[in-house]
Amino acid sequence: MSKRDYYEVLGVEKNASEEEIKKAYRKLAKKYHPDINPGDKGAEQRFKEINEAYEVLSDPSKRKQYDTFGHAGTGGQGGFGDFGGFGGFGGFGGQGDFGGFGDIFDTIFGGGFGGTRRSNRPSKGNDLRVDLDLEFEEAAFGITKEVKVNRQERCEVCGGTGAKPGTSTKTCPQCGGTGQIRYRQNTALGRFETIRTCDACHGEGKIVEEPCTECRGTGKTYKSRKITIKVPSGVDNGSVISLKGEGEPGERGGPNGDLFVYIRVRPHKFFKREGENVYCEIPITFVQAALGDEITVPTLDGKVKQVIPEGTQSGTVFRLRGKGIPRLNDRGRGDQYVKVVVDVPRKLNSEQKELLRKFAEATGDEVNPGHKSFIDKMKDAFGV
Ligand SMILES: [Zn+2]
Ligand SMILES: [Zn+2]
Repeated sequence: MSKRDYYEVLGVEKNASEEEIKKAYRKLAKKYHPDINPGDKGAEQRFKEINEAYEVLSDPSKRKQYDTFGHAGTGGQGGFGDFGGFGGFGGFGGQGDFGGFGDIFDTIFGGGFGGTRRSNRPSKGNDLRVDLDLEFEEAAFGITKEVKVNRQERCEVCGGTGAKPGTSTKTCPQCGGTGQIRYRQNTALGRFETIRTCDACHGEGKIVEEPCTECRGTGKTYKSRKITIKVPSGVDNGSVISLKGEGEPGERGGPNGDLFVYIRVRPHKFFKREGENVYCEIPITFVQAALGDEITVPTLDGKVKQVIPEGTQSGTVFRLRGKGIPRLNDRGRGDQYVKVVVDVPRKLNSEQKELLRKFAEATGDEVNPGHKSFIDKMKDAFGV
């Protein structure tokens, strides 16, 4: 199924401001909210789509990723830059970073919506972020790396129930195991049945008789894990790699959160990078520039020869085709641009100076066309 463009989903321009995106989102979320369209599958689908678009476009780094890579950058299992989908209605539960959602729905639904966040529906676990530093070449050609992640995992002693082994959990008497208490509420938008989290069991629907000592009844413990990351060739500073399900555990059987690996590339001593192209500067002597020569140029693949033609000017740029960075998720490579800079000697001995004076005498103004045209331009401009 092809996905609609997120900007199209929210009905905003590509260059829309954060405020415009938020406004469009509020408007659409109100219109398609499932509480307003009970049983309407189409509206529910739209609502999910709107939320998914907003989740990406409201986050500057996710938005940049989407602008660069499109849905390819936000979809696909374990793929590059996948932000994880919108995990269904109960899905916000664990997502602490779902910016602005709570206050929007608190405004519309008088806080009733907030209650469903901790209902006993399954919810996705927290997403995690880890930064990964790479050398210039590692980013260019890709590499497999290990990162250390401290994360919550399901407690191994109680299996995540929070109950001490051998003891049991009992159904919450206040909510009868649903984890929710229902209320009817009249609001400006009409009458809603709102649902609040049961305060006796905090939405779990179950009460632990004796808490597990390992996790103190939370069902989760912190673990330090080494996770292997396959970095694709062509990543750059700010690229994000996602590992689906490597985040923290979900609630009540919900899926795990995702792990987002943010790439940082260390600068190179000699090369600079812009997108898929590599830039460098090489000093040459004025004799090499005047008479021509063959120089050795370092590239990401090792040294190559480059002919400097006779009469090369300082600042001339040569292109080495295909010597740049491999394209991310694609074939082919960028180019390398080599700028030659003529080095004017600072210290000359008397013999060298004498030779240069003779050289100047031998050439004179008229044999140097560059200089001659410069003199003409001066005359035109200033009459001197
Ligand atoms: Zn436990
Ligand atoms: Zn309860």
